[in-house]
Amino acid sequence: MRLEGKKVLVTGAGKGIGREICKLLSACGAEVFAVSRTAADLQSLAAEIPCKTIVADLAEAQQAVSAAEQALKLAGRIDCLVNNAGISIPQSFLDTTADAFDRTMAVNVRAVMLITQVIAKDWIARKSPGAVVNLSSQASMAALADHAAYCASKGGLDMLTKVMALELGPHQIRVNAVNPTVTLTPMGEMAWGDPKKSGPMLAKIPLGRFAKPIHVANAVAYLLSDAADMIHGVTLPVDGGFLAQ
Ligand code: NDP
Repeated sequence: MRLEGKKVLVTGAGKGIGREICKLLSACGAEVFAVSRTAADLQSLAAEIPCKTIVADLAEAQQAVSAAEQALKLAGRIDCLVNNAGISIPQSFLDTTADAFDRTMAVNVRAVMLITQVIAKDWIARKSPGAVVNLSSQASMAALADHAAYCASKGGLDMLTKVMALELGPHQIRVNAVNPTVTLTPMGEMAWGDPKKSGPMLAKIPLGRFAKPIHVANAVAYLLSDAADMIHGVTLPVDGGFLAQ
């Protein structure tokens, strides 16, 4: 995947999949602008790869907008956007709280909308093409116990991706999503670390293994690259076949 000279904004860059995406994109020649919540994570990322960093809590609407504006200011222009930041607060449906639901929606769906609005308006004003990849999940298409808010947020994110594709496509702004299965990150360990949960999930994955962050990062890099120039509005499973059943 060749991304030489591309300036890429990645959210949720501090840990897990987002961090791996930053490392891969940098290795592919991209200039990375990394947004995350914990400053120490961004400091250690900046010690690993050349990147510029912005600390923001994307659950706050104003911080999401200003993080995107700051990135534009810092970079001069952004060519590609990866909306990766996401949270999962496992609760049974009956016990799901309004607070957990609202927070999940704010990070997993609303922040994606707000950040992409800022970046896409700049692309349109400059008559520049762009590419967006949203980090969705297999949970957008298959119900998972104890994930009511998360499943609803990722289902919403898939549809947001498609509406963005519909409206932004005429401006040559490509928008796609990747939909991973369980991926071995801090979030993956938190939700699936218990063998009582991971065993039955593994049994539903035809390849018989969970994803590694690099599997997801490879799909993101491909969708951002010119090799995917005609791919638009897709929700791409990276799931070892989980959704094939
Ligand atoms: P992690 O929890 O391991 O890492 C998420 C990163 O996003 C962290 O750096 C975190 O920062 C940051 N982040 C979370 N909330 C905010 C916020 N409000 N503002 C700014 N940054 C924030 O998650 P993963 O790497 O596992 O997940 C990345 C994406 O992939 C998510 O969208 C997730 O839903 C999706 N996904 C993950 C799967 C998995 O099994 N791991 C499976 C399918 C999809 P901090 O720690 O400081 O809060």
